[in-house]
This record gives sequence, C-alpha cells and structure tokens, in this order.
Amino acid sequence: MFRKYLLYLLRWQLSTPILAACVIFLSAIHPTWRTIVANVIGGLIFFWVDRWIFNRTNILRGELWETQFGVVCADCGKEAEKGYRLVKAPRYDRTYDRKPEFRCHECSRAKYAGDRATRKADRAALRP
Ligand SMILES: [Zn+2]
Repeated sequence: MFRKYLLYLLRWQLSTPILAACVIFLSAIHPTWRTIVANVIGGLIFFWVDRWIFNRTNILRGELWETQFGVVCADCGKEAEKGYRLVKAPRYDRTYDRKPEFRCHECSRAKYAGDRATRKADRAALRP
C-alpha cells in the first residue's frame, strides 16, 4: 500500500507541468479558463494512470490481479500471508467469480505458467 501511495504522490507531481504549460501558453485567456483547460488535459491523461495504479493492471499484458491477505491456498491448502488470483486477461474474465480462488505465491506462479502454456497451445491449434 505504501508503494502505491508513493506512486500516487509521484503521479500528482506529473500534473504540475501540465498546469504550468497551460498557465504560460494560454496567457491570453482568463486564469479560470486556463485552469479548466489544464484540468481537462490532466483528466484525459491521468484517468488511465490512476486506473492503472488502483486496479494494479499490468497494462503491457492486459492483466488484472487481485491480492488478499491471510488466505488458504486453493491448491496446496496451506495458509499464506498473501494470496493471488488472476481476475482478467485477454479472453479470460473472472471479475464476477462467485467463489474466487486465491493461491499462495508458489502455486499461483505454477498455475499461471501452466495456464499460459495451455493458452499458447490453444492459440497454436487455432492457427491454420
Ligand atoms: Zn499453494
């Protein structure tokens, strides 16, 4: 959580150059309108950045993961301090899973590697 908070504070600093550029380059218009323009530009950019920060989305692979503290691993049955589950990936959506399964770090990685190999084989089978 602390890392996410630092990332969010850093993201707020990135909005400063946008505000400064609007104040400098739009000096012909009223300061209120300059600020509105700066906020619209910032909103267009930072909506996506904030979404990534708070959803923990891996943008490059289009994956969304959920973590939960104090779980019993769905595979090995051990109690884990932190559990993981893949919520969304390309052609995979468990957003509204009624009984989400969390796994310990090791089992999560093993399942992910296994599922990834299966998805890769499925894609290869679909190719002509
Ligand atoms: Zn496990």
